[in-house]
Amino acid sequence: MRPLVATINLHHLQDNFRFLKQRHGKQMYAVVKADAYGHGAVKCSQALVEDADGFAVAYLEEGIELRKNGIAAPIVLLEGVFSAEEYAECDRFNLSPVVQNQRQLHDFLHYDWRNYVTVWLKLDTGMRRAGFMPTDYAVAYHALRKNKAVKKVVKMTHFACADDLNSLFTVRQNKIFDTTTQNLSGEASMANSAAILAHADTHRDIGRAGIALYGISPFTEENEFSGSLKPVMTLTTQVFGERTLRKGEAVGYGSIFRAEKEMRIGLIACGYADGYPRVPSNDNLF
Ligand SMILES: *Cc1c(COP(=O)(O)O)cnc(C)c1O
Repeated sequence: MRPLVATINLHHLQDNFRFLKQRHGKQMYAVVKADAYGHGAVKCSQALVEDADGFAVAYLEEGIELRKNGIAAPIVLLEGVFSAEEYAECDRFNLSPVVQNQRQLHDFLHYDWRNYVTVWLKLDTGMRRAGFMPTDYAVAYHALRKNKAVKKVVKMTHFACADDLNSLFTVRQNKIFDTTTQNLSGEASMANSAAILAHADTHRDIGRAGIALYGISPFTEENEFSGSLKPVMTLTTQVFGERTLRKGEAVGYGSIFRAEKEMRIGLIACGYADGYPRVPSNDNLF
């Protein structure tokens, strides 16, 4: 068998979750989209079921997978639906869609809901990828609130630069959010990992922890905020080949690494198709 193993430490995942939840206060959702950032969505969610107030995935099928594996907590679909038909599946599996544009809103309001539904309404405060503009937000909010099936509207936004500690953009997005939603009642959700760690003024009713949950700092440099995270994935392998390079010989892609002296080198069973970055293979790190 190929000796390359990714080991997932679910205790570290739980410790990271508790640390992030405590730092944020109030409710914390675990973002387990993209198969929990490659760590296994079902197992990670099951490990967090006691602690998490809810889970966040990107799209419908990810949410259904969690439901089919016994996750009963609230699940939000961060991208919302891709077609009107998907609302029937949200209804059936009790999944909370994000509504982030007019088409999703229109389809939501025209679907005949059988069960009560929680909907997350996204405000574009500056990321400029998705969400209603501040001028259109209240109209969308009231349209949802008027719908009898709607149990709750969670107000949400997403940050563009929360991982850049020198940027004032988060403060600006925060202000736009508050100004736009001040007269609209209900829970609010803003903070991703970087904001949970470094921007206390963004902490509202529900935090959404992704990358930091897996022990990976969202910041480019080590800082006081990232030190408490524990790595969840460990990659181990064995040296299965070795040889000696003569002084001046190059090895590997691009022949960038050059032996400064005679060196014994080992070959491990792991490449960039496995997700290991190609960049350090040519670095003088090793
Ligand atoms: C992915 C995602 C998150 C989590 O972001 P991290 O930076 O990984 O913590 C939160 N909110 C939304 C809308 C997302 O798409």
